[in-house]
Amino acid sequence: MVYEQARKRRWKGIAEGRTLVGPQTVHIDLANGCNTNCTTCWDHSPLLTTPRSAVWKRKLFDFERFVALAQDLAGMQSVEAVILSGMGDPFVNPAIYDIIAECKRHGWHVTVLTNALLADADRIAALGVDAMLVSVNGVTPASYTAFHPNLRAEDFERLKTLLARWQVLGVPVKHVQVINRDTAPELVEMVEFAARYGARHVTFKLASLGGGTEACAVTEAQRAQLQKWLVPEARAAAARLGVATNLDVFARQLAAGGLATTPIEEVGCFMGWHYARVTVEGALLYCCATTLQVGHLDWGPFSTQWFGASWEALRAQLMAGTYAPACQQCGKFNQNVKLAAKVRAKLGEAAYLALTGRRASDNEAKREHRRL
Ligand code: SF4
Repeated sequence: MVYEQARKRRWKGIAEGRTLVGPQTVHIDLANGCNTNCTTCWDHSPLLTTPRSAVWKRKLFDFERFVALAQDLAGMQSVEAVILSGMGDPFVNPAIYDIIAECKRHGWHVTVLTNALLADADRIAALGVDAMLVSVNGVTPASYTAFHPNLRAEDFERLKTLLARWQVLGVPVKHVQVINRDTAPELVEMVEFAARYGARHVTFKLASLGGGTEACAVTEAQRAQLQKWLVPEARAAAARLGVATNLDVFARQLAAGGLATTPIEEVGCFMGWHYARVTVEGALLYCCATTLQVGHLDWGPFSTQWFGASWEALRAQLMAGTYAPACQQCGKFNQNVKLAAKVRAKLGEAAYLALTGRRASDNEAKREHRRL
């Protein structure tokens, strides 16, 4: 009932371009360190020209600080879901099981975003985690170890054992497959892998790259092959096997061209009413982009800052259709596509265009530009 009212007020606020309630989902990073080093990772890739320091990598979200934050969030009477992840892997933090229990005590839907290798499968099931969002990235030992250079074929076997265990225990699992030069050829096999382990969904993500990791991007030949053959074949496999995917959104990412992964100006950003991310250090981020900081836990309660000047200024900027450089590789593109469809359905096309800083004629102009 409380959540129902919060949702209604959120939509009222969106329609009016105002912030009337707190977020629905809060994403909290539990660890900067990671047990692996994905080639596409912004923080742990061996390809980074400026690696993160050892001091930074050792940082963990403290349990007492988590309890205080959770109390504040619960008081907003809008938060329904929590995502636990990290700039590294959340299972590097030994407090993760207590933190999950704390989230469940508040009645929240809990998603853990992880490479899974450090997880205790049975403990996760016992705690009632609602979704394990497993970052798989490759479905053969060769691609898996190319994508995770510090891992071995035995680690891929461990991952498969964990996925099989969760399937037996009935833990809902979704797969994330980041697509780069090493994983691109396996699109169809990724759908088959998801079916084999009973995954509820596969999210395909064209790798967001920079700072040296561009070296592992898909080649233009791979992009063409994905667009022409592999995406249609993967779609057919998903339909045949009953696997839910985001292949439509992935196809749009491929069409963006170059290093851009999202035609964000055609979709708009609605994350500022629904979502926030808190880093291990306590920085409050508008979304996944670390460049878009809008507060800090050291500056006051989350619940106050959510309605404060920094957050409101960024909401207004995005509503005016002015995007940050990070938005060209938006990590929340899937969610923005879904929210854009909801905004259109609930509020109508004119409101949707106004909330993304456009007029109807702008869309026409863009379509015309693409035709030329
Ligand atoms: S990267 Fe930009 S478009 Fe994507 S969620 Fe963040 S602010 Fe919105």
